[in-house]
Amino acid sequence: MKPIKKIVVVGGGTAGWLTACIIAARHKGREASGFSVTLIESANTPTIGVGEGTWPTMRSTLSRIGVSETEFFRQCDAAFKQGALFSRWTTGQASDAYFHPLMLPQGFSHTNLVPHWLQQNLHKSSEQNFCDAVCPQGVICQKGLAPKTISHAEFEAVANYAYHLDAGKFAVFLQQHACKQLNVQHRIADVTQVKLTDSGDIDRLVLNGDQEIAGDLFIDCTGFRALLIGDAMQVPFKDCKDILFCDTALAVQVPYENEFSPIATHTISTAQSAGWIWDIGLPTRRGVGHVYSSQHISDEQAERELAAYIGKDSVSARKIKIRAGHRETFWKNNCVAVGLSAGFMEPLEASAIVMIELSAKLIAEQLPVCREVMDIVAKRFNATTLYRWGRIIDFLKLHYVLTQRRDSDFWRDNLDPSSIPDRLKELLLLWSYQSPWFHDEFNQVEEIFPAASYQYVLYGMKFKTQVEADTLQNTAKYAERLLRENRNLTEKLGLSLPYHRDLIMKIHERGLQTV
Ligand SMILES: Cc1cc2nc3c(=O)[nH]c(=O)nc-3n(C[C@H](O)[C@H](O)[C@H](O)COP(=O)(O)OP(=O)(O)OC[C@H]3O[C@@H](n4cnc5c(N)ncnc54)[C@H](O)[C@@H]3O)c2cc1C
Repeated sequence: MKPIKKIVVVGGGTAGWLTACIIAARHKGREASGFSVTLIESANTPTIGVGEGTWPTMRSTLSRIGVSETEFFRQCDAAFKQGALFSRWTTGQASDAYFHPLMLPQGFSHTNLVPHWLQQNLHKSSEQNFCDAVCPQGVICQKGLAPKTISHAEFEAVANYAYHLDAGKFAVFLQQHACKQLNVQHRIADVTQVKLTDSGDIDRLVLNGDQEIAGDLFIDCTGFRALLIGDAMQVPFKDCKDILFCDTALAVQVPYENEFSPIATHTISTAQSAGWIWDIGLPTRRGVGHVYSSQHISDEQAERELAAYIGKDSVSARKIKIRAGHRETFWKNNCVAVGLSAGFMEPLEASAIVMIELSAKLIAEQLPVCREVMDIVAKRFNATTLYRWGRIIDFLKLHYVLTQRRDSDFWRDNLDPSSIPDRLKELLLLWSYQSPWFHDEFNQVEEIFPAASYQYVLYGMKFKTQVEADTLQNTAKYAERLLRENRNLTEKLGLSLPYHRDLIMKIHERGLQTV
């Protein structure tokens, strides 16, 4: 038996440090039997330095690896994220906006409120938007309120939340925790060669041309470079640009007017002529970026749209090329890819970091005991990860196919049936007769986008589902109660939650109670 004890992670970005922390925390205490996690990062290749919106999974990840939420807020310039506001995606008008919050609709596990909400709004000229009818979080966000108070413990929530953070500071924060608390070995070196065994496993890595490191499992976190999974293991990349057209990003940092300016507690995503602009509020600055299709507009025009968004004549932005797609497999022999090396889709729903968390957790939980069983674990990992990428593609494309915009080739091309995955076409047909819900096919454990997410986007973007009134009779009273309870909860939380910046200042000064 060849035991798996030496884990080598290559890359010191968000993927590398999160993966190292998650594996080291899960296997803490095994050092005496020779278990080790080593992270190698280059001093010459910078990290991508963007990626500032997370999913609520990050709360359990941080808690599981043993970091203090207070310290995370203080050291990573972190803020609360309670969802995303999508502006100008449906009609392109200034008043066109909807929320994708992080809270589930009221009573979601037992009652589907969609048909009741549709029925209620059927004959009304101005409908109450779906999000506000079923959940308080859109109103909380619009009022600029935090998802909890200072008397709630670390990671505890009144309203479900994720984070906005400074990616550079987050990597440093994780590195310190990994090295000081979790015994992760840190080496700064360039991997210059990958040596394989006769059977195609990675045997060792050559560092800086003259040193070597051996290992049992190698984790590729080298970002778009994909040094191990791409170059060494020759796993092909599956391009998705025929579905998702955005291939370039321009990123800038925008200062606040003053230190007391409100901090948005949601990501703002504003559709443009050939893409969209993200706007993420951190305590000390905003991170703003334009994601667009270079097939549809020039860099200069994209820059002008970004400048107009932030109210300037011109901007000096960092340009990042994006390659939409993922590896055909993610774990081959004794090499597994996590992070940008595994794949990337435009950051419209912040799906990259959550994929890192889920992949690293799966590796940590199912870490094969010996090489003899590694291929079985790899097969399962590949199936799960491929399923997740497929779901991400569908969900991102959903935002583009529901639009009523026809004002540019970009929006028109997005409606070309050949660019829409068959599975999504089928679901849209199904959903025109019955809305997605809890018992729909989104039933995998740790589904990235549950049926609730589909509901918020579909009905936020005015999708029409036919309702048969006689099917609602059994649940009508209960649904009415849930909708009323939501109105009461919205009012109560609107009065009791603090302003977002005020809570962050308190966390910096006093800290949250530890759990
Ligand atoms: C424009 C944009 C916006 C994004 N926004 C979001 C978002 O809001 N939410 C979200 O979840 N995700 C987002 N992402 C994705 C997110 O940034 C990444 O998933 C995340 O930062 C992980 O990157 P990484 O660690 O895989 O790669 P990187 O940060 O690129 O790190 C690669 C590491 O590999 C090392 N390396 C490379 N070659 C070698 C070598 N030869 N030897 C040793 N080390 C080497 C480098 O030194 C570096 O440490 C965004 C991405 C882009 C492009």
